[in-house]
Amino acid sequence: MVNYKDLGLVNTRDMFARAIKGGYAIPAFNFNNMEQLQAIVKAAVETKSPVILQVSKGARNYANQTLLRYMAEGAVEYAKELGCAHPEIVLHLDHGDSFELCKSCVDMGFSSVMIDGSHLPYEENVALTKKVVEYAHQFDVTVEGELGVLAGVEDEVSAEHHTYTNPEEVIDFATRTGCDSLAISIGTSHGAYKFKPEQCHVDPATGRLVPPPLAFEVLDAVMEKLPGFPIVLHGSSSVPQEYVDMINQYGGKLEAAIGIPEDELRKAAKSAVCKINIDSDSRLAMTAAVRKVFAEKPAEFDPRKYLGPARDEMEKLYKHKILNVLGSNDKLA
Ligand SMILES: [Zn+2]
Repeated sequence: MVNYKDLGLVNTRDMFARAIKGGYAIPAFNFNNMEQLQAIVKAAVETKSPVILQVSKGARNYANQTLLRYMAEGAVEYAKELGCAHPEIVLHLDHGDSFELCKSCVDMGFSSVMIDGSHLPYEENVALTKKVVEYAHQFDVTVEGELGVLAGVEDEVSAEHHTYTNPEEVIDFATRTGCDSLAISIGTSHGAYKFKPEQCHVDPATGRLVPPPLAFEVLDAVMEKLPGFPIVLHGSSSVPQEYVDMINQYGGKLEAAIGIPEDELRKAAKSAVCKINIDSDSRLAMTAAVRKVFAEKPAEFDPRKYLGPARDEMEKLYKHKILNVLGSNDKLA
């Protein structure tokens, strides 16, 4: 049994309370390799932002849970080395799908876990979430639950259509489960292909596809039912067109990848939404940078020469999200 507090990590309770009060959101960036982690930590330190390091089930399978835990522990020390005396770093399990997985992460030093029972019948979701909360809270580990189903594909989580969160259920769910935050479905979606072109309209000014707006009326109704309760948005990458173009220019083939406009995320961050999950955008940044090196310097075979530029590009992206979208800069306690 390892407690996250001994590793210098923090849970989400205090940072979420401050984020709601301050009208900003904490970035939750997924990671599964060293370059991503370095980019996240550097961006968070340089902008003085709290940050959530997310590990999905797919990342655990790819990189090994033990190694990822030690990397997160290393991230705290790295942040200090970069000049941040008191970093606020959360190690969070993204989309835990069983009690056993959540328990294993709590026991391994994670400071926060998500139990995603959103695909289950309501009463089963309540029972499973409650069970995880009861275990996690013994160790002061915070728990994120989910109500409503997001469309899209992320690792092993996939659904064809989304089902908006039913605001009538949120009080009952939060009260009975005791969860610390709630992921809701208001039209965000996992992956880089969040919308089909036929769901979008063309912006006459830019000629680009604009997706349907998020269901802010659902968010408003949830906030009315649960005033001041921390809300989480998954699937909130914006799929920057410049990365899609760069990937395609250098030999890739991404067709009509469409994300969530940053204006909408900016608006959400000012509300009770205090955690915004971003994964696909860093995948795109990394891929674009690597492809550029491969295309321009085909003789290059030192991984540092393409993973280095990829890391720089991700760091730029993370800083942009913190400074220009979520507003979590200069928010360390
Ligand atoms: Zn998700």
